Amino acid sequence: MQSTMQDVPLLISRILTHGSTVHGASQVTTWTGEGAPHRRSFAEIGARAAQLAHALREDLGVGDGDRAATLMWNNSEHVEAYFAIPSMGAVLHTLNLRLPADQLVWIANHAADRVVIVNGSLIPLLAPLLPRLETVEHVVVSGAGDRSPLLAADGAGNGVQVHEYEDLIAGKPTVYDWPELDERTAAAMCYTSGTTGDPKGVVFSHRSVYLHSMQVNMTESMGLTDQDTSLVVVPQFHVNAWGLPHATFMTGVNMLMPDRFLQPAPLAAMIEAERPTHAAAVPTIWQGLLAELTAKPRDVSSLTQVTIGGSACPPSLMEAFDALGMRVCHAWGMTETSPLGTVARPPAHAIGTDEEFGYRVTQGRFAAGVEARLTGPGGERLPWDGESAGELEVRGPWIAGAYFGGPAAEPLRPADKFSEDGWLKTGDVGTISPDGFLTLTDRAKDVIKSGGEWISSVDLENALMAHPDVTEAAVVAVPDDKWGERPLATVVLREGATADFDALRAFLAEHGKIARWQLPERWTVIEAVPKTSVGKFDKKVLRRRYADGELP
Ligand code: ADP
Repeated sequence: MQSTMQDVPLLISRILTHGSTVHGASQVTTWTGEGAPHRRSFAEIGARAAQLAHALREDLGVGDGDRAATLMWNNSEHVEAYFAIPSMGAVLHTLNLRLPADQLVWIANHAADRVVIVNGSLIPLLAPLLPRLETVEHVVVSGAGDRSPLLAADGAGNGVQVHEYEDLIAGKPTVYDWPELDERTAAAMCYTSGTTGDPKGVVFSHRSVYLHSMQVNMTESMGLTDQDTSLVVVPQFHVNAWGLPHATFMTGVNMLMPDRFLQPAPLAAMIEAERPTHAAAVPTIWQGLLAELTAKPRDVSSLTQVTIGGSACPPSLMEAFDALGMRVCHAWGMTETSPLGTVARPPAHAIGTDEEFGYRVTQGRFAAGVEARLTGPGGERLPWDGESAGELEVRGPWIAGAYFGGPAAEPLRPADKFSEDGWLKTGDVGTISPDGFLTLTDRAKDVIKSGGEWISSVDLENALMAHPDVTEAAVVAVPDDKWGERPLATVVLREGATADFDALRAFLAEHGKIARWQLPERWTVIEAVPKTSVGKFDKKVLRRRYADGELP
């Protein structure tokens, strides 16, 4: 029997139309470093997104399904591109500006980007790559920055034309008759940051973005309203800024965009000046901000909710932010999951009890729509008993079922990433409690396999970072003749720290409750833990550095 409901496709243009009318007065504020921040209302963004779509279609010839890339910081023009490109039927490809040049070139060629919208401040990054970008025909520049390196490319016979964003959209109609697309059409694409090998392209649909945005808005996820202002530190090229630009247009949440000012001091300044109520970023950003606020306290009292994800949030960091009045909410996800998978809001019965913190430091409870199962080493299903650890597999309407194979190729479904019955193999190892809370012990490739037993690198790192003398700690496996692998602890010490390795080892055993056989015997002090393009600990680099087990 058929339902009697209207069959209205879930389209990004509908989110835009809703946000720019019903929440037309909400604002995107972009930090400018000096002077007044730049403010634009959702209504203005709606009008300018329509103008951009006209320009892309009529002047640059961007057609249905064509890829238009952005190489941009978080700012209001980037939000305009977020809505214009998919709404007109093209595909938004957010390029990660922190990737090494060769990877950027590979990704842009693989995606066959025809257009790149670039911030003026990023021209020095883009211009040298242009001759190697095989499919790019147009570069559109937004914001201040010396154009000359690009203009040398324009007219140089390589077919690239350079345009000014503001000139391009000026005078264009401020409404666009958005097409009634199939909701399963590609809307946006994002390549995984490559911590796990070659970058892989995940292609989001209008439907997946729409449903994911609704999930982000649920009270048990971020639960924000038009009374909130969200400081979107997580880059728009990092899994669509965790869905915030789309979700905020559904509910009228104001956005505060840091543009290129991502260092701890300007972040503290913008929190004090603009008084956001919410912020989202990876743990390393918060570590930096914490050090800044400790050295130079500011009024950050507006910021009551902080979403931390992307890598495990050390409990010590959570406690430190709690003490500042900022309540941390831990969440887990990946590019392949759009990214929202779990959010650690404690269940009602735990609130106000000793159990509460224990729930908050887990990766969180599965969102409605995300089905999860654990698979043991032999492929067997493991129970949700909070103890049996296995690889997490997920399925749902905003979870990838394949990777982009290239313009003319079929989607890729590598067997190490997708099960035969279509579930995504996350590569994350952990347990699930009977009430659906996920606790990750490690990434499959980061786990230390010592004499047939597993040691969680994350447990060791969290315990180390709880020591007052340690600012960062990353633990990796190094080869060992007797045990196969043993943990190597690399630590960054606070200035003037006095703790030595014996003291740290004793601390791990005593306060970290680390079993004696898991305690690292190899230690080294480093200046900083290497970071990936999205600010996570880059253990691949550390593993390479200490591959022969030799210490400096
Ligand atoms: P990449 O895989 O290239 O690092 P992603 O941003 O997609 O790019 O990373 C997803 C991975 O990040 C997850 O599979 C998981 O290992 C890790 N991760 C994300 N959030 C958390 C979290 N809260 N705790 C622990 N690990 C996390």
